[in-house]
Amino acid sequence: MVKEELVILQKKVGMLRVEGKYKEAIENCYELIENGKQLKDYKALLVAYMNLAASYYCIGDMEATFNSIESHKQICDKHGDAEDILGSYNVLFLLYDYNKDLDMAKKTLDKSIALGKKLNKYNIISNAYANYSHIYQLEEDYEQALEMANMGLEMAKLHKPVTPILELRVKLNIAKALIELGNFEVSKSLIEEMINDSILDSFIREKTQCYHLQGVFYYKQQLYVKAFESFSQSKILVESYKDLYLLKDIQKQRSKLAELMGDINLAYNIQKEYIALLSDISKSELELVAIKLQIKHSMTLMEKKANTDYLTGIYNRSYMETTVNGFLKQAHKDNERIICMVFDLDGFKSINDEYGHLFGDEVIKQVSEACSSMLRENDIFARFGGDEFVIILKGMTLENGEKKAEQILNIVRNLNILNDGKRIPITISIGITDNLTCAAMYFNELFNVADLRLYKAKNSGRNCVCAVN
Ligand code: GH3
Ligand code: MG
Repeated sequence: MVKEELVILQKKVGMLRVEGKYKEAIENCYELIENGKQLKDYKALLVAYMNLAASYYCIGDMEATFNSIESHKQICDKHGDAEDILGSYNVLFLLYDYNKDLDMAKKTLDKSIALGKKLNKYNIISNAYANYSHIYQLEEDYEQALEMANMGLEMAKLHKPVTPILELRVKLNIAKALIELGNFEVSKSLIEEMINDSILDSFIREKTQCYHLQGVFYYKQQLYVKAFESFSQSKILVESYKDLYLLKDIQKQRSKLAELMGDINLAYNIQKEYIALLSDISKSELELVAIKLQIKHSMTLMEKKANTDYLTGIYNRSYMETTVNGFLKQAHKDNERIICMVFDLDGFKSINDEYGHLFGDEVIKQVSEACSSMLRENDIFARFGGDEFVIILKGMTLENGEKKAEQILNIVRNLNILNDGKRIPITISIGITDNLTCAAMYFNELFNVADLRLYKAKNSGRNCVCAVN
């Protein structure tokens, strides 16, 4: 993938996420990560992990969200700028809020505020104070909730250009705290001022919150009919963008109010709607579970694809190198033997030349299948590249490894590969070594020795095994 394609992919993941296509967004994020790593494009990686975290958050997979944020943070620490760091604080806050880890949520907000101040980003600071106010509301510390919201308003006013919605958002927090503190006078005029603000026509979520808050305001004063009207207004609004959880809360309030108003029929109808809503919620939760499963499945497929060779389906070089490095490290501790066999088809160029490349592919496939059938489940068999293969055997003596190599030589020799009805004899040459004879700590060291021996086998006339230097 070239840089330009990477930029297109970055835009695509953002768009998919905004459109709510989380499964596709997640899959494309992984593709972006894969290619970003190859091109060492850290910006692309940051974009990928941030979108990954946000998408996982939206489908409710909190563990995957945390992991994505963790990966984002690691790259951010070395290669990110302040905007990237702020982005990760925002998602972290959502997570802590979701998990009701309020202390960590506050700590994250402190960091956002500090960074926002350093960058003179008053919108960020204001938003963080609004979130702080929300946390204090959860803790039922309404004095503090009010103080934070007031700070948020101050900060919103400092933001340039003037952004009215920023102010309105913190005013919602102020009004909420005032209601809880019993200050109905001030909260009343604040709510009225907000509801009459024409800016709400472009911000339907905030408009819903305003009516919802108005409902709470009337309810607290036992003005049930008015409260019911306000909640009904917010119900109409929330139905247009389908926030099922907020709708559930609103319906609960309406149902309670209908009973308080003594309207049995109305209460009954709301109950009916409420039950239908619960079934919608469980349906949408089931859909989320299905999406999570689909994502897990496509992750496994992607991982498999990244680790295997496309022609033969056996492991590829990169998987083998990483895995064998791990084996060798462990084997060094346990004093265990690891055998490495490298083999290469004899005279394969002329087979390609004589019978064509497609026939050559078929030969590679059949040789790999035949060898696979000789191996145990825990052996590693990989295509190193071209017509060269590597086999790694654990817990076997070099002598037994040599016997195994002879068997492999034999099975390939006896393959019955036909071209136009004519049997084409195929042979291979093998070089073999183990980690103890060459004191190898890394795959490359082991491979180099075995490869040298393969070269010797080729020089000794091919179709044989070489186990000495
Ligand atoms: P030697 O006995 O010394 O190994 O001779 P050789 O002709 O096999 O020479 P070498 O191993 O250097 O050449 C391997 C050839 O394999 C070269 C390349 O064209 C061919 N090859 C590599 N990958 C593929 C593939 O995926 N499919 C096919 N059909 N041919 C491939
Ligand atoms: Mg060859």
